[in-house]
Amino acid sequence: MPEIAFVNGRFLPLADATVSVEDRGFQFGDGIYEVIRTYDGRPFELEAHLARLDRSAQALDLRQPYSRQEWTQFALEAIQRAAFPEAKIYIQITRGVAPRDHAYHDDLVPTVVMTVREFRPLGASVRAVGVEAMTIEDIRWGRCDIKSVNLLANVLARQQAKHAKVFEAILIKDGQVTEGAVSNVMLVRAGTVITAPEGPLILSGVTRAVVLQLARQERLPVREQYCSQADLHAAAEVFLTGTTVEVLGVVRIDGKPIGDGKPGPVTQRLATRFLERTL
Ligand code: PLP
Repeated sequence: MPEIAFVNGRFLPLADATVSVEDRGFQFGDGIYEVIRTYDGRPFELEAHLARLDRSAQALDLRQPYSRQEWTQFALEAIQRAAFPEAKIYIQITRGVAPRDHAYHDDLVPTVVMTVREFRPLGASVRAVGVEAMTIEDIRWGRCDIKSVNLLANVLARQQAKHAKVFEAILIKDGQVTEGAVSNVMLVRAGTVITAPEGPLILSGVTRAVVLQLARQERLPVREQYCSQADLHAAAEVFLTGTTVEVLGVVRIDGKPIGDGKPGPVTQRLATRFLERTL
C-alpha cells in the first residue's frame, strides 16, 4: 500500500517528496504541525485538529494557505489514496523558503506538507498492564500551546525516557506537572480527575478535551489545576491522553508504583468511553 505525501498542493509517493534545504522549517523549526489518526478510515476530531492548526498559525503570524474545508478534502483524499487499515496523518506548514536570516519577509510562501503512514495502535496487552513513566524537568519555551515543529526539548525528554526503558517522560516545571513529552497527563485523587489547565505551559490536547468531556458526562468531578510532583506520586491513578496513546494508564513513575500498580477503575472507565467515542 502506498505511503502518500502531499507537498504544496500535489500528491506524490512519500519517497519522492522533498522540500528545499533553505526551508525555514528545516533551518529554524519555523513551522507548525498536527497529527491526526483514523478509526476505521475516518479521521478522528479532524475539525478540532484543524482549528488548533489555525490557532498555531495565527500565534506565529504564519499564513495558513488552505481553508478548513480544503484541508478536510485533502486529508480525506490522502486517506483514500493510501488506503491503510488505520492511518496517521501528519500536517506541517512552515513559513517557507528564504535565504537564512532569523527575521522574515511578510511575502514568503508557506511550505505545506502532509504525509499519511500506516498507524499501528498500542496492543491490548500494553493497555491492560499500563505503562511506566519518569519525571523530567520541563525546559521548553513559554508557548507550549503552539503546536510548533520546534520540538527539541520534547525530543531530548523522549530520548531520556527511551534510555530509561520507560514509555513517557512527564514534564515538571517549577515543581508542577505540566504534561508528557507527547501526551497530556491526568491524575485521579479521591475520585476527582485533575489535569493542568489550558494556557501557555501545555498543549491543549484534542484528546484531553474529549476525555474531560467524557469525565463530566460520567459525573466524575474534574479540576483543571496544577499538581505537584508529590501529588503525582501519591495519586490513586495516573493516565496519559493523546492522539496516539488515547487513554493510557501509567502504573509506575520514577520506579514507584501508582495506586496498586495497575490501571485504575477511572482510567479503565474513561478508556472504554473513549473507545466508544471513536466508533
Ligand atoms: N502534549 C504534547 C506535548 C503533545 O505532543 C501531544 C500530542 O502530540 C499532546 C499533548 C496530546 O495532544 P492530542 O491529544 O491533540 O494529540
